[in-house]
Amino acid sequence: MGKLKNDVAKVLFTREEIAEKVKSLANQLKSAYEGKNPLILCILKGSLIFTADLVRELDFPCTIDFMQVSSYGQGAKSSGQLKVKKDMDTDINGRDVIIVEDILDTGVTLSNLVPELERRGAKSVALCVFLNKEARRRVDIKADYVGYDIENEFVIGYGLDYDEKYRNLPYIGVLKREVYEK
Ligand code: 5GP
Ligand code: MG
Repeated sequence: MGKLKNDVAKVLFTREEIAEKVKSLANQLKSAYEGKNPLILCILKGSLIFTADLVRELDFPCTIDFMQVSSYGQGAKSSGQLKVKKDMDTDINGRDVIIVEDILDTGVTLSNLVPELERRGAKSVALCVFLNKEARRRVDIKADYVGYDIENEFVIGYGLDYDEKYRNLPYIGVLKREVYEK
């Protein structure tokens, strides 16, 4: 249990690069959402840090809430059902919702979450992801706002964990194989 950086094979995006990317995403949101008081829905735990950075770059009114979700019953055919571990307490009826997620991977979780938010009466639901791993997609889902497209590598840091560790790494890196193979 030494320093976190000893387990990083390579750095993909530095703190500085991340900060610039977050600003550019916030600018895109500004043109679409200024005056609409959107709900920023932070998907726990991975997008905690991305959300915290993103909302501080938004200079218009918005509200923030949190959900922790996963999917169960993911067979080869079915894409499973939504499992809500922690729910938000905002009434989203008539609201414009922006889901903020750390990474879009298979897409299974978010493809189950979007219809649930629509069922609750959201006026619109958009998806803002910091990372997009297209290679692993299993369902037809596309993010409206994407920070970076990445290769099929397991990444950590900036909120992303391996076994609940590395979320506090201030940059995004690839985990050394020996860490998950030992
Ligand atoms: P999916 O899109 O597969 O339903 O789920 C995405 C979730 O899987 C993310 O929110 C994240 O928790 C986890 N995940 C997917 N790819 C990675 C990765 O490369 N690194 C880490 N740390 N988590 C990942
Ligand atoms: Mg995770």
